[in-house]
Amino acid sequence: MTFDLAALVRPNIRVLKPYSSARSEFAGEAEVFLDANENAFGSPAGLSYNRYPDPVQSQLKKLIASISGVPAEQTFVGNGSDEAIDLLFRIFCRPGKDEAIICPPTYGMYKVSADINDVAVREIPLTANFQLNVDAVLAAASPATKLLFICSPNNPTGNIMRPQDVMHLLLHFGGIVVIDEAYIHFAQEPSMIAELDSFPNLVVLQTFSKAWGMAGLRVGTAYANRDLIALMNAVKPPYNVSTAAQMAVAEALARRDEVDQWIERTLGERDRLTDALLELAFVRQVYPSDANFLLVRVDSALAVYKYLVVEKIVVRDRSTVRLCEGCLRITIGTEDENARLIAALKAFGVHS
Ligand SMILES: *Cc1c(COP(=O)(O)O)cnc(C)c1O
Repeated sequence: MTFDLAALVRPNIRVLKPYSSARSEFAGEAEVFLDANENAFGSPAGLSYNRYPDPVQSQLKKLIASISGVPAEQTFVGNGSDEAIDLLFRIFCRPGKDEAIICPPTYGMYKVSADINDVAVREIPLTANFQLNVDAVLAAASPATKLLFICSPNNPTGNIMRPQDVMHLLLHFGGIVVIDEAYIHFAQEPSMIAELDSFPNLVVLQTFSKAWGMAGLRVGTAYANRDLIALMNAVKPPYNVSTAAQMAVAEALARRDEVDQWIERTLGERDRLTDALLELAFVRQVYPSDANFLLVRVDSALAVYKYLVVEKIVVRDRSTVRLCEGCLRITIGTEDENARLIAALKAFGVHS
Protein backbone atom coordinates (compact mmCIF):
# COMPACT_ATOMS: atom_id res chain seq x y z
CA MET A 1 0.00 0.00 0.00
CA THR A 2 1.47 3.37 -0.97
CA PHE A 3 1.56 5.82 1.89
CA ASP A 4 0.69 9.49 1.47
CA LEU A 5 1.15 11.29 4.77
CA ALA A 6 -0.12 14.64 3.49
CA ALA A 7 -3.37 13.02 2.32
CA LEU A 8 -4.08 11.80 5.86
CA VAL A 9 -3.29 15.09 7.60
CA ARG A 10 -6.09 17.58 8.36
CA PRO A 11 -6.03 20.41 5.77
CA ASN A 12 -5.59 23.10 8.46
CA ILE A 13 -2.56 21.28 9.86
CA ARG A 14 -1.09 20.72 6.39
CA VAL A 15 -0.87 24.52 5.94
CA LEU A 16 -0.15 25.38 9.58
CA LYS A 17 2.47 28.00 10.21
CA PRO A 18 3.68 26.97 13.67
CA TYR A 19 4.30 29.43 16.50
CA SER A 20 7.84 30.66 16.35
CA SER A 21 9.15 31.18 19.85
CA ALA A 22 12.07 33.38 20.87
CA ARG A 23 14.07 30.26 21.70
CA SER A 24 13.32 28.54 18.41
CA GLU A 25 14.09 31.57 16.23
CA PHE A 26 17.53 32.24 17.65
CA ALA A 27 19.83 29.25 17.26
CA GLY A 28 23.25 30.90 17.59
CA GLU A 29 25.54 31.51 20.55
CA ALA A 30 24.57 34.58 22.62
CA GLU A 31 25.49 35.92 26.05
CA VAL A 32 22.72 38.40 26.71
CA PHE A 33 19.18 37.13 26.30
CA LEU A 34 16.69 39.95 25.97
CA ASP A 35 14.40 38.19 23.55
CA ALA A 36 11.81 36.34 25.63
CA ASN A 37 10.63 38.70 28.38
CA GLU A 38 11.99 36.43 31.08
CA ASN A 39 13.14 37.61 34.51
CA ALA A 40 16.81 38.36 33.86
CA PHE A 41 17.73 38.42 37.57
CA GLY A 42 17.02 34.82 38.37
CA SER A 43 14.39 32.48 39.72
CA PRO A 44 13.24 31.90 43.30
CA ALA A 45 13.03 28.25 42.29
CA GLY A 46 16.76 28.23 41.57
CA LEU A 47 18.81 26.82 38.69
CA SER A 48 18.00 28.32 35.30
CA TYR A 49 14.27 28.15 35.82
CA ASN A 50 13.91 31.82 34.89
CA ARG A 51 14.62 30.79 31.27
CA TYR A 52 12.18 29.06 28.94
CA PRO A 53 13.05 25.44 28.24
CA ASP A 54 14.48 24.21 24.95
CA PRO A 55 11.32 23.84 22.82
CA VAL A 56 12.75 20.96 20.79
CA GLN A 57 14.59 19.27 23.69
CA SER A 58 17.80 18.83 21.63
CA GLN A 59 20.06 17.60 24.42
CA LEU A 60 17.50 15.25 25.86
CA LYS A 61 16.67 13.84 22.43
CA LYS A 62 20.34 13.08 21.75
CA LEU A 63 20.52 11.11 24.99
CA ILE A 64 17.24 9.32 24.28
CA ALA A 65 18.51 8.49 20.77
CA SER A 66 21.61 6.85 22.24
CA ILE A 67 19.34 4.46 24.13
CA SER A 68 16.48 3.99 21.64
CA GLY A 69 18.64 3.80 18.55
CA VAL A 70 16.14 6.09 16.82
CA PRO A 71 17.52 9.37 15.41
CA ALA A 72 16.46 12.57 17.20
CA GLU A 73 14.58 13.74 14.06
CA GLN A 74 12.35 10.69 14.42
CA THR A 75 11.74 11.27 18.13
CA PHE A 76 8.99 13.39 19.68
CA VAL A 77 9.17 14.21 23.39
CA GLY A 78 5.91 15.13 25.07
CA ASN A 79 4.26 15.98 28.35
CA GLY A 80 3.62 12.27 28.93
CA SER A 81 2.64 9.95 26.10
CA ASP A 82 -0.90 11.20 26.72
CA GLU A 83 0.16 14.41 24.97
CA ALA A 84 1.27 12.42 21.93
CA ILE A 85 -2.11 10.65 21.83
CA ASP A 86 -3.94 13.98 21.84
CA LEU A 87 -1.65 15.47 19.19
CA LEU A 88 -2.25 12.53 16.85
CA PHE A 89 -6.00 13.18 17.02
CA ARG A 90 -5.49 16.86 16.37
CA ILE A 91 -3.14 16.25 13.44
CA PHE A 92 -5.12 13.55 11.64
CA CYS A 93 -8.78 13.64 12.65
CA ARG A 94 -11.22 16.31 11.52
CA PRO A 95 -13.71 16.79 14.38
CA GLY A 96 -17.11 15.34 13.54
CA LYS A 97 -15.80 13.75 10.33
CA ASP A 98 -12.91 11.36 10.87
CA GLU A 99 -12.68 8.24 13.01
CA ALA A 100 -10.31 6.12 15.02
CA ILE A 101 -10.34 2.41 15.84
CA ILE A 102 -9.55 1.09 19.30
CA CYS A 103 -9.56 -2.51 20.51
CA PRO A 104 -11.09 -2.76 23.98
CA PRO A 105 -10.52 -3.65 26.69
CA THR A 106 -7.65 -1.20 26.42
CA TYR A 107 -6.14 2.01 27.77
CA GLY A 108 -8.90 4.54 28.48
CA MET A 109 -7.16 7.66 27.18
CA TYR A 110 -7.63 6.80 23.49
CA LYS A 111 -11.39 7.15 23.81
CA VAL A 112 -11.24 10.16 26.15
CA SER A 113 -8.87 11.93 23.77
CA ALA A 114 -11.15 11.05 20.82
CA ASP A 115 -14.20 12.37 22.70
CA ILE A 116 -12.44 15.62 23.59
CA ASN A 117 -11.54 16.07 19.94
CA ASP A 118 -15.06 15.12 18.77
CA VAL A 119 -13.74 12.12 16.85
CA ALA A 120 -15.91 9.01 16.48
CA VAL A 121 -14.41 5.81 17.82
CA ARG A 122 -15.08 2.37 16.39
CA GLU A 123 -14.54 -0.29 18.99
CA ILE A 124 -13.37 -3.67 17.72
CA PRO A 125 -13.05 -5.83 20.83
CA LEU A 126 -10.08 -8.10 21.36
CA THR A 127 -10.70 -11.83 20.93
CA ALA A 128 -11.41 -14.02 23.96
CA ASN A 129 -7.66 -14.57 24.42
CA PHE A 130 -7.07 -10.80 24.26
CA GLN A 131 -5.56 -10.75 20.76
CA LEU A 132 -6.40 -8.41 17.89
CA ASN A 133 -9.38 -9.25 15.70
CA VAL A 134 -7.43 -8.38 12.58
CA ASP A 135 -10.14 -9.06 10.00
CA ALA A 136 -12.77 -7.11 11.95
CA VAL A 137 -10.42 -4.14 12.33
CA LEU A 138 -9.76 -4.03 8.59
CA ALA A 139 -13.45 -4.49 7.81
CA ALA A 140 -14.36 -1.58 10.09
CA ALA A 141 -11.85 0.79 8.47
CA SER A 142 -13.05 3.38 5.96
CA PRO A 143 -11.23 6.26 4.26
CA ALA A 144 -12.30 8.37 7.26
CA THR A 145 -10.51 6.03 9.68
CA LYS A 146 -7.28 7.88 10.28
CA LEU A 147 -5.93 6.22 13.43
CA LEU A 148 -5.70 2.69 14.79
CA PHE A 149 -4.57 2.32 18.41
CA ILE A 150 -2.87 -0.91 19.42
CA CYS A 151 -1.74 -1.18 23.02
CA SER A 152 0.99 -3.80 23.32
CA PRO A 153 1.56 -4.99 26.01
CA ASN A 154 -2.08 -4.13 26.54
CA ASN A 155 -3.49 -2.35 29.55
CA PRO A 156 -5.44 -3.85 31.40
CA THR A 157 -5.00 -7.39 30.01
CA GLY A 158 -1.19 -7.42 30.27
CA ASN A 159 -0.45 -9.42 27.12
CA ILE A 160 1.59 -8.42 24.10
CA MET A 161 -0.14 -8.54 20.72
CA ARG A 162 1.00 -11.22 18.26
CA PRO A 163 3.68 -9.57 16.08
CA GLN A 164 2.30 -11.15 12.89
CA ASP A 165 -1.11 -9.53 13.55
CA VAL A 166 0.49 -6.14 14.13
CA MET A 167 2.53 -6.55 10.94
CA HIS A 168 -0.59 -7.49 8.98
CA LEU A 169 -2.36 -4.34 10.19
CA LEU A 170 0.67 -2.18 9.41
CA LEU A 171 0.60 -3.54 5.87
CA HIS A 172 -3.13 -3.29 5.24
CA PHE A 173 -4.61 -0.51 7.40
CA GLY A 174 -4.87 2.70 5.36
CA GLY A 175 -4.24 5.16 8.21
CA ILE A 176 -1.72 5.64 11.00
CA VAL A 177 -1.05 2.65 13.25
CA VAL A 178 -0.19 3.77 16.78
CA ILE A 179 1.48 1.12 18.91
CA ASP A 180 1.48 2.08 22.57
CA GLU A 181 4.46 0.41 24.23
CA ALA A 182 4.13 1.90 27.70
CA TYR A 183 4.97 -1.55 29.17
CA ILE A 184 7.45 -2.84 26.57
CA HIS A 185 10.30 -2.92 29.11
CA PHE A 186 8.57 -5.81 30.88
CA ALA A 187 7.86 -7.83 27.72
CA GLN A 188 9.51 -10.79 26.03
CA GLU A 189 8.99 -9.45 22.52
CA PRO A 190 11.18 -6.61 21.17
CA SER A 191 9.87 -3.09 20.53
CA MET A 192 8.27 -2.29 17.17
CA ILE A 193 10.79 0.54 16.94
CA ALA A 194 12.81 -1.86 14.79
CA GLU A 195 10.09 -1.59 12.12
CA LEU A 196 10.07 2.22 11.82
CA ASP A 197 12.09 2.20 8.61
CA SER A 198 9.78 -0.36 7.02
CA PHE A 199 6.47 1.33 7.85
CA PRO A 200 5.93 5.07 7.26
CA ASN A 201 2.46 4.72 8.86
CA LEU A 202 3.88 3.45 12.19
CA VAL A 203 3.97 5.52 15.38
CA VAL A 204 5.47 3.88 18.48
CA LEU A 205 4.64 5.45 21.85
CA GLN A 206 6.82 4.89 24.90
CA THR A 207 6.91 6.59 28.25
CA PHE A 208 9.20 7.35 31.17
CA SER A 209 6.24 6.87 33.52
CA LYS A 210 6.37 3.10 34.07
CA ALA A 211 9.61 1.08 34.06
CA TRP A 212 11.71 4.26 34.08
CA GLY A 213 10.07 5.45 37.29
CA MET A 214 9.40 9.06 36.35
CA ALA A 215 5.59 9.30 36.19
CA GLY A 216 5.69 12.53 38.19
CA LEU A 217 7.86 14.30 35.64
CA ARG A 218 5.42 13.70 32.74
CA VAL A 219 7.68 12.72 29.88
CA GLY A 220 6.73 10.39 27.05
CA THR A 221 8.10 9.74 23.59
CA ALA A 222 6.73 9.02 20.13
CA TYR A 223 8.86 7.51 17.38
CA ALA A 224 7.89 7.72 13.71
CA ASN A 225 9.13 8.84 10.32
CA ARG A 226 10.60 12.34 10.34
CA ASP A 227 7.76 14.05 8.47
CA LEU A 228 5.23 12.81 10.99
CA ILE A 229 7.46 13.84 13.91
CA ALA A 230 7.83 17.29 12.32
CA LEU A 231 4.03 17.59 12.35
CA MET A 232 3.89 16.65 16.03
CA ASN A 233 6.52 19.28 16.82
CA ALA A 234 4.59 21.89 14.84
CA VAL A 235 1.31 21.23 16.63
CA LYS A 236 2.58 20.79 20.22
CA PRO A 237 2.63 23.75 22.62
CA PRO A 238 6.06 25.39 22.14
CA TYR A 239 7.35 24.64 25.66
CA ASN A 240 5.60 21.33 26.32
CA VAL A 241 8.34 19.75 28.46
CA SER A 242 9.63 21.76 31.42
CA THR A 243 13.29 22.44 32.13
CA ALA A 244 13.01 20.44 35.34
CA ALA A 245 11.66 17.42 33.48
CA GLN A 246 14.23 17.68 30.68
CA MET A 247 17.12 17.89 33.15
CA ALA A 248 15.87 15.12 35.43
CA VAL A 249 15.24 12.67 32.59
CA ALA A 250 18.61 13.50 30.99
CA GLU A 251 20.35 12.65 34.26
CA ALA A 252 18.27 9.54 34.84
CA LEU A 253 19.16 8.12 31.43
CA ALA A 254 22.70 7.60 32.75
CA ARG A 255 21.36 5.35 35.50
CA ARG A 256 19.84 2.69 33.33
CA ASP A 257 21.46 -0.10 35.37
CA GLU A 258 19.30 0.79 38.34
CA VAL A 259 16.17 0.68 36.18
CA ASP A 260 17.20 -2.66 34.68
CA GLN A 261 17.58 -4.07 38.18
CA TRP A 262 14.10 -2.88 39.13
CA ILE A 263 12.71 -4.47 35.96
CA GLU A 264 14.39 -7.78 36.90
CA ARG A 265 12.93 -7.60 40.40
CA THR A 266 9.50 -6.76 38.99
CA LEU A 267 9.64 -9.80 36.70
CA GLY A 268 10.67 -12.02 39.60
CA GLU A 269 7.88 -10.63 41.75
CA ARG A 270 5.42 -11.06 38.87
CA ASP A 271 6.13 -14.83 38.89
CA ARG A 272 6.07 -15.04 42.68
CA LEU A 273 2.82 -13.08 42.95
CA THR A 274 1.22 -15.20 40.22
CA ASP A 275 2.00 -18.41 42.13
CA ALA A 276 0.82 -16.98 45.44
CA LEU A 277 -2.44 -15.72 43.93
CA LEU A 278 -3.17 -19.06 42.29
CA GLU A 279 -3.05 -20.72 45.72
CA LEU A 280 -6.02 -18.67 46.90
CA ALA A 281 -9.36 -20.45 46.60
CA PHE A 282 -11.24 -17.39 45.37
CA VAL A 283 -8.74 -16.67 42.57
CA ARG A 284 -10.09 -18.14 39.33
CA GLN A 285 -7.41 -17.05 36.89
CA VAL A 286 -4.20 -15.06 36.67
CA TYR A 287 -3.62 -14.01 33.09
CA PRO A 288 -0.10 -14.23 31.65
CA SER A 289 1.52 -10.79 31.77
CA ASP A 290 4.13 -8.99 29.69
CA ALA A 291 3.70 -5.91 31.87
CA ASN A 292 4.26 -4.77 35.47
CA PHE A 293 0.76 -5.74 36.53
CA LEU A 294 -1.45 -8.80 36.66
CA LEU A 295 -5.04 -9.17 35.55
CA VAL A 296 -6.63 -11.49 38.09
CA ARG A 297 -10.09 -13.04 37.89
CA VAL A 298 -11.62 -13.61 41.32
CA ASP A 299 -14.93 -14.55 42.90
CA SER A 300 -16.79 -11.38 43.96
CA ALA A 301 -14.25 -8.87 42.67
CA LEU A 302 -15.93 -5.84 44.20
CA ALA A 303 -15.91 -7.43 47.66
CA VAL A 304 -12.19 -8.20 47.33
CA TYR A 305 -11.53 -4.66 46.12
CA LYS A 306 -13.43 -3.10 49.03
CA TYR A 307 -11.79 -5.40 51.55
CA LEU A 308 -8.33 -4.40 50.27
CA VAL A 309 -9.21 -0.72 50.55
CA VAL A 310 -10.03 -1.27 54.24
CA GLU A 311 -6.63 -2.96 54.52
CA LYS A 312 -5.17 0.24 52.98
CA ILE A 313 -4.22 -1.50 49.73
CA VAL A 314 -5.61 -0.10 46.51
CA VAL A 315 -5.80 -2.12 43.31
CA ARG A 316 -7.74 -1.35 40.13
CA ASP A 317 -11.26 -2.75 39.85
CA ARG A 318 -11.79 -3.73 36.21
CA SER A 319 -14.69 -6.09 36.96
CA THR A 320 -17.27 -4.17 34.94
CA VAL A 321 -15.08 -3.92 31.84
CA ARG A 322 -16.15 -6.16 28.98
CA LEU A 323 -13.96 -9.30 28.69
CA CYS A 324 -12.52 -8.46 32.14
CA GLU A 325 -15.62 -9.42 34.11
CA GLY A 326 -14.70 -10.25 37.69
CA CYS A 327 -11.15 -9.00 37.25
CA LEU A 328 -8.85 -6.84 39.33
CA ARG A 329 -5.71 -5.29 37.88
CA ILE A 330 -2.88 -5.47 40.37
CA THR A 331 0.38 -3.56 39.89
CA ILE A 332 3.52 -5.46 40.90
CA GLY A 333 4.87 -3.66 43.96
CA THR A 334 8.02 -4.06 46.00
CA GLU A 335 8.72 -7.40 47.68
CA ASP A 336 7.26 -6.03 50.94
CA GLU A 337 4.17 -4.59 49.30
CA ASN A 338 3.42 -7.82 47.47
CA ALA A 339 3.88 -9.82 50.67
CA ARG A 340 1.45 -7.48 52.41
CA LEU A 341 -1.06 -7.92 49.59
CA ILE A 342 -0.82 -11.71 49.75
CA ALA A 343 -1.14 -11.74 53.55
CA ALA A 344 -4.27 -9.59 53.30
CA LEU A 345 -5.77 -11.78 50.59
CA LYS A 346 -5.11 -14.94 52.60
CA ALA A 347 -7.01 -13.40 55.49
CA PHE A 348 -9.86 -12.48 53.12
CA GLY A 349 -10.01 -16.12 52.03
CA VAL A 350 -10.42 -17.21 55.64
CA HIS A 351 -13.18 -14.75 56.49
CA SER A 352 -15.27 -14.90 53.34
C1 LIG B 1 0.40 4.44 31.85
C2 LIG B 1 0.14 4.39 30.38
C3 LIG B 1 0.57 5.40 29.56
C4 LIG B 1 1.32 6.53 30.20
O1 LIG B 1 1.13 7.72 29.79
P1 LIG B 1 2.02 8.95 30.29
O2 LIG B 1 1.18 10.07 29.86
O3 LIG B 1 3.32 8.84 29.54
O4 LIG B 1 2.22 8.83 31.76
C5 LIG B 1 0.37 5.32 28.20
N1 LIG B 1 -0.24 4.24 27.68
C6 LIG B 1 -0.64 3.21 28.44
C7 LIG B 1 -1.26 2.02 27.84
C8 LIG B 1 -0.48 3.28 29.82
O5 LIG B 1 -0.92 2.26 30.58
